[in-house]
Amino acid sequence: MPETPEELYERAANALRMPPVEEWETFPFDGDLRPRALQPPDERERPRHGEGGVDCLRCAASDDEYIWTNENWRLWAFDKPTGLPLIVLLESREHFAEPGDLPDELAAELGVLLAKIEREIRGLGEIGRVHVCRWGDGGEHLHWWFLARPARTPQLIGSFAAIWDDVLPPVPEDVWRADLRALVAALG
Ligand SMILES: [Zn+2]
Repeated sequence: MPETPEELYERAANALRMPPVEEWETFPFDGDLRPRALQPPDERERPRHGEGGVDCLRCAASDDEYIWTNENWRLWAFDKPTGLPLIVLLESREHFAEPGDLPDELAAELGVLLAKIEREIRGLGEIGRVHVCRWGDGGEHLHWWFLARPARTPQLIGSFAAIWDDVLPPVPEDVWRADLRALVAALG
């Protein structure tokens, strides 16, 4: 069993390390940096938005707020372009909290759908990689991120792509809208 959050805090608070970010090609920032002080753990895990489906905005959203839907899944996009070429989120139609809570049949559907959406985004062209991610620390309603990063731009590889998204200026709106339309058409 992992150490408790209190044990981790005791051991780590005064032993934080500064990784050599200046050597990392993918690190988005420059200048002198130091780690933030580690805060002690909370008494209990902070509640996420929409816990147990109560007041969950994703449950309450109608299909026309999504760019694509089927019987069990809905695909959502921001209402304006992002720094990365394309970002979409796949949500279960029903409220589930964790991937491990899905019944096997839905989990199997999810696997096929994750692959299909990844393939179609990559097929838009000039996409180097589509990162398929699940964090779930903000809203509880099960959702998966698809973060498309540009091809041939080695600084944007890896997990910092999610940070570069906020650093890069937004994609031109007409380009972004055309890509969303192409994705929806490909998904059928
Ligand atoms: Zn929900």
